[in-house]
Amino acid sequence: MAKILCVLYPDPVTGYPPEYARDSIPMVEAYPDGQPMPSPATIDFTPGELLGCVSGELGLRKYLEAAGHELVVTSDKDGAEFERHLADAEVVISQPFWPAYLSAERIAKAPNLKLALTAGIGSDHVDLDAAIKSGITVAEVTYSNSISVAEHAVMQILTLVRNFVPSYKWVIEGGWNIADCVERAYDLEGMDVGVIAAGRIGQAVLRRLAPFGVRLHYFDTRRLPLELEQELNLTFHDSVESLVSSVDVVDVHAPLHPSTYHMFDADLLATMRRGSYIVNTARAEIMVRDDVVAALESGRLAGYAGDVWYPQPPAADHPWRTMPHHAMTPHVSGTTLSAQARYAAGAREILEDFFAGSPIRDEYLIVDGGALAGVGAASYTADGKASPGAGA
Ligand code: NAD
Repeated sequence: MAKILCVLYPDPVTGYPPEYARDSIPMVEAYPDGQPMPSPATIDFTPGELLGCVSGELGLRKYLEAAGHELVVTSDKDGAEFERHLADAEVVISQPFWPAYLSAERIAKAPNLKLALTAGIGSDHVDLDAAIKSGITVAEVTYSNSISVAEHAVMQILTLVRNFVPSYKWVIEGGWNIADCVERAYDLEGMDVGVIAAGRIGQAVLRRLAPFGVRLHYFDTRRLPLELEQELNLTFHDSVESLVSSVDVVDVHAPLHPSTYHMFDADLLATMRRGSYIVNTARAEIMVRDDVVAALESGRLAGYAGDVWYPQPPAADHPWRTMPHHAMTPHVSGTTLSAQARYAAGAREILEDFFAGSPIRDEYLIVDGGALAGVGAASYTADGKASPGAGA
């Protein structure tokens, strides 16, 4: 019998929903690159339910308890309850939206830990070096919310360029202040838009933006196939410096690891066109927090949006809550009800394989057998801390 410690975000303040806005969610048959959808033996939830919060339990309780395991579900990611259960947990499940940081210190206090499972994408809340050294497998549900995030990024690009948030506020406040709304509103059409990291999410954004009549650019350490560059009319840049000085909108989709940590500092921001926009749904620490605020205040940036913060949740006085011209959301882009159905099914598939002693799909693996593995070997580096977040 194993103990599974599952850390999920708290229930809605109004309680677990008795009903939903829609009766069902559309079922997606396959991911864009042909990767098969999550394929657990069965599921014990109805797709479209709120699964990512404590009462939703990722739909795992029936399955795990029937197999004789102990499931502990908590929203306590920083306190004594988490630490107590970590001491004898074999599996820790966490989510980037509400990350239970698995630092080296915490991993050292978890002698039974064998699997750190991310119900979503992005395992930088785990100290990957420590996981490698301790022989812990790290797995995530690759592709489960990539399109969800891409849609959010496109929404936030338009939100900034069209000056949506101030216009919405005028409506709420009972006004009809057209000039106030439009004094910072532009069309996206005709702009240069640059994507940093054209992986699953970045490519989905590029595809969605192509019909907007923009000029598309990208920078990635791995160049895309020529046919795709031609199909979407992409301009490739071989450095982040080249990209950011050539575009009006920068959209970031790189994993957080040493080569992307604090990539956007005052020096890089100073090279951007005056009035540029940044959308970052990747990880907050790719930015130097206060340099972003200063660039908005000086006008170098005309807007900043995204849904990733550091730490999470951020303090009530985190400067990104009040900086000018932002359109931030909490970390929600990858946890729509649609995405939850996929990552809950994927989490179950990974657990089924883990407990059966069967190989976990390569595309789900970040660390395995004492080394970066599968998709993790392509996306992460393990030199030093994968994430300062993992140390929090
Ligand atoms: P992916 O593995 O498909 O793509 C990552 C891309 O980044 C790859 O093409 C890789 O070559 C490129 N890359 C790596 N290091 C780079 C560097 N230094 N400079 C430029 N490019 C670099 O990953 P994905 O599924 O597209 O997800 C990307 C990231 O988005 C995740 O690592 C995660 O941090 C974040 N994410 C956020 C949410 C959310 O809810 N906001 C959800 C999912 C993923």
